Amino acid sequence: MTTFPPPSDFNGPHAASLAGCVDLHMHSCLSDGANTPEYLVEWAADLGLKAISLTDHDTTRGIKQAIRRGHELGVEVIPGVEISVKLSGGTFHLLAYYYNPDDTAFEATLREIAAKRETRNRKIVQALTEHGMPITYEEVLQEAGEAVVGRPHIAAVLERKGYVASRQEAFDKWIADDAPCYFEKDTFGPEQALRFVREHKAVPVIAHPIWLNRGGLDKTEEYLKQLKAWGLLGLEAIYPDHDEVWTAGLIEIAQRLGLVVTGGSDYHGGRTKPQVTLGHGEGGGFKVPATVLDGLQAARKVAREAA
Ligand code: AMP
Ligand code: FE
Ligand code: FE
Ligand code: ZN
Repeated sequence: MTTFPPPSDFNGPHAASLAGCVDLHMHSCLSDGANTPEYLVEWAADLGLKAISLTDHDTTRGIKQAIRRGHELGVEVIPGVEISVKLSGGTFHLLAYYYNPDDTAFEATLREIAAKRETRNRKIVQALTEHGMPITYEEVLQEAGEAVVGRPHIAAVLERKGYVASRQEAFDKWIADDAPCYFEKDTFGPEQALRFVREHKAVPVIAHPIWLNRGGLDKTEEYLKQLKAWGLLGLEAIYPDHDEVWTAGLIEIAQRLGLVVTGGSDYHGGRTKPQVTLGHGEGGGFKVPATVLDGLQAARKVAREAA
């Protein structure tokens, strides 16, 4: 019998109330999460979640095993992936739902993009070395194991070698988006990413829209309007980092623009965002109602019917 970690203390009275809810954003050890896809499904079943989506960064590799386990346990597993999209001055994350798990061209393109990560990761390693923290790309690979190699693994190496006291310090001082050893990934631009997702008849949804970093809700709406013109179908309004104002504001924006609303915890596990629990987010009543599936399925229909 697997035992699952208890929800964080601050979930308090909400801890047992996830029956019939969903969680459409989480990571496994195939990207930067701590748990296997199967474990996430088992935990979701234990929590009473009706449906989940596994949304690893830039890879669909875990999805078939998650779906298989979901069949066994009666949890609907929606194919998902979280694609890194490049913007001038940063990145944003685009969720894609309901691609066909047998669509090998979809994964093949994601792999090409992932290969471009290597170029960028090597630049970061080089810059850190030049800043007096010699590390090698091999050490980073070793840290990543099977996972898509990324900054969290670089942070872990910096911590292990004693250059920083914690992984968070590694980000804050050296490799966060605005830090001296950061380099952008050469990946999809927004228009290209949306076209790619729609070509594969999947449903593109903006992950955690607050991190589009447009400033306030007004600016965010303007940008979402542009993304909608390029094929965007939804936005993740229900997200642990969104306070009530952002959640309500994004739901209104979705209604005005004709976008569907989704939600998820962005659970990673391990030492990444340890305050976030599967299904519960950061607690305090966070949960995603199963009604979001109605909208998502309507969007799926749109995605399939479009040429
Ligand atoms: P990468 O895809 O290699 O650019 O790494 C992105 C991942 O690094 C995110 O998914 C987070 O897990 C982590 N990350 C990015 N920025 C920060 C930050 N400022 N503090 C802590 N973790 C971060
Ligand atoms: Fe992540
Ligand atoms: Fe994300
Ligand atoms: Zn995520």
